[in-house]
Amino acid sequence: VTYKNISGKARGAFLRAIAARLEERSEDLVQVYTLESGLPAGRAKGELGRTTGQLRAFAALAESGSWVEARIDTALPDRKPVPRPDIRKCLVPLGPVVVFGASNFPFAFSTAGGDTASALAVGCPVVVKGHPLHAGTGEAVGRCIQHAARETGMPAGVFSHLQGSGNALGEKLVKHPATRAVGFTGSQKGGLALARIGAERTEPIPVFAEMGSINPVVVLPSALDPSRGWATAYAQSVTLGAGQFCTNPGLILGVAGEAWENFTTALAIEIGKLPAACMLHPGMAEAFRALRAEFLSQTGVRSIKGTENEASGALVGGAVAGVSGEDFRQNPLLQREVFGPFTLTVACKDKNELLDIIKGLEGQLTASLLGEEAEIEAEPELLEALQGRVGRLLFNGVPTGVEVCSSMHHGGPFPATTDARFTSVGLDAFRRWVKPLALQNAPATLLPDALRDENPLGIWRTVNGEWTRDSI
Ligand code: NAP
Repeated sequence: VTYKNISGKARGAFLRAIAARLEERSEDLVQVYTLESGLPAGRAKGELGRTTGQLRAFAALAESGSWVEARIDTALPDRKPVPRPDIRKCLVPLGPVVVFGASNFPFAFSTAGGDTASALAVGCPVVVKGHPLHAGTGEAVGRCIQHAARETGMPAGVFSHLQGSGNALGEKLVKHPATRAVGFTGSQKGGLALARIGAERTEPIPVFAEMGSINPVVVLPSALDPSRGWATAYAQSVTLGAGQFCTNPGLILGVAGEAWENFTTALAIEIGKLPAACMLHPGMAEAFRALRAEFLSQTGVRSIKGTENEASGALVGGAVAGVSGEDFRQNPLLQREVFGPFTLTVACKDKNELLDIIKGLEGQLTASLLGEEAEIEAEPELLEALQGRVGRLLFNGVPTGVEVCSSMHHGGPFPATTDARFTSVGLDAFRRWVKPLALQNAPATLLPDALRDENPLGIWRTVNGEWTRDSI
C-alpha cells in the first residue's frame, strides 16, 4: 500500500496519534527544546500546544475529505453541435515532499510542524531536513512521528527525519528525483539557493520558501497619541521571542513632527524597559549585532535610545533607530530584515512621501495600519498600495501572533516568499502539496471514491455547477 492511497480517515488517525504521542512525551520534549533553543519553558509549552492543535486541525481536514474539491460535469450525449463527455476532477497528492525545519519554531514550524502536518494530511510522504540548531528536539519529535506511524499501521517511509551539517544534505534532498515539492522557512539566501536548485532540475519542482519580512507598520496621526498605548504594544511585539519571528515589525512609518518624535521616543523607552533576551544561538546574536551596527552606520540613521540591558553572548537587548523618509528611499539596504529585536522608524516629510515609500517596498508577509476608521478610510491610495505589497493587512493590531485557521494567509509577494499564491500557516497550507487531475469518460469502477456517483465519502462537490453532498 502506498501512502497516497490510504483513506482520509486513516491519515487523520495517524495525525491524531502524532499529537497524542507529542503530548505523552511533552515533559522530555520541552526540556530538550529549552536546552537547545534558549527559549523559555512557557514558550515551548505554548508552541507544543499550537503544534498538536495544527496536527488535529489537519487530521479533521483529512477526515472530512472535501479538500479534494471534487468537480463533476456529467455527460451530455445529446448536446449539439457536439456531445459533452463526462468529466470529473479532484485534487491529488503531488508525492514525497521535503520540509526544511525553521530555526525559530522548533515545534510548530519544524519536524511535526505545519508543513509536515499539511503534507501528511493530503497523502504526501514527508522527508524532514532537521534544523541543526535543534537537532535533539527534531530527533525526539521525529521518534514520536515514527511511533505514531507504527501504531496506526502506516507504510514504511511515510516519514523520515534526516540530519546533517552543511548544505550538502539539503541540496541532495531537493535534487532527489523522487522529491515532488519543498517547504522551507529561513533566510533569503538559503531559500533562494534551494529555489534555484528546484528550478534547475531536469524536472523542475516547486520550492515554497518563506524568507521573512520587515512587516511595515504605518502610524496615522491619531495613533501617535500616547493614550492609545501603541508604543507599549509595539515595544512588546518588537521584542517578543527576542524578535525572532518572521512577523516581527522591523519598520515603523509616520509623518514627521512633534507627535512623531514623542511616539518614537516613547517606543524606545518602552523597549529599553524590557530585559535582554536569549537568541537561538550566539552566532545569531552576533549576526544581529553586526547587522544592527551596519544599519546604524548608514547615512542619516541614528540610534534613538540604546537599551540599557545590552548583554553579551546569546543575550541581546531591543533597539530602535530613526531615519528620514528621504534617507530611507535612497538606501535599499535599509529594507533588509534585521533578525532580532530591532525596529527602524521612518519619519516621512508628508503623506506623499509615505505613499511613495510604501509603493517602493519589497513584498511583505504583513503590514499594519494604525489609526481611526475615518482616518484610514480617507487614505484609499495608501490602503491600495499596502494591499499590493502584502499577504495580510492588519488594522490596529500587532503582526506577531499568527492564528492557525482557514482564513489565515501567511505568505506574501517576493521576496517574502517564492510564491505569493500560497500560505504556510493555516489549513490552506495543504494547497502547496496537491495538483488537479481530471478524468474524462473514466469507467465507474476506476473512479476514486471522491468522484463516484454514490459519493461514498459524503463530501461537498459541485455536480453540473451546483454544490451538493448528494449522490448522482
Ligand atoms: P537558514 O540559514 O536559511 O537555514 C535554514 C535551513 O536551510 C537549514 O536547515 C539549513 O541547513 C538549510 N540551508 C540553508 N542554506 C542552504 C543551502 N544553500 N543549501 C542547502 N540547504 C541550506 O536559516 P536559519 O538557520 O533558520 O537562520 C539564519 C537566518 O535566517 C536568520 O538569522 C534570519 O535572518 C533568517 N530567518 C528567517 C526566518 C523567517 O521566518 N523567515 C526564520 C528563521 C530565520 P544547513 O545549514 O545544514 O544546510
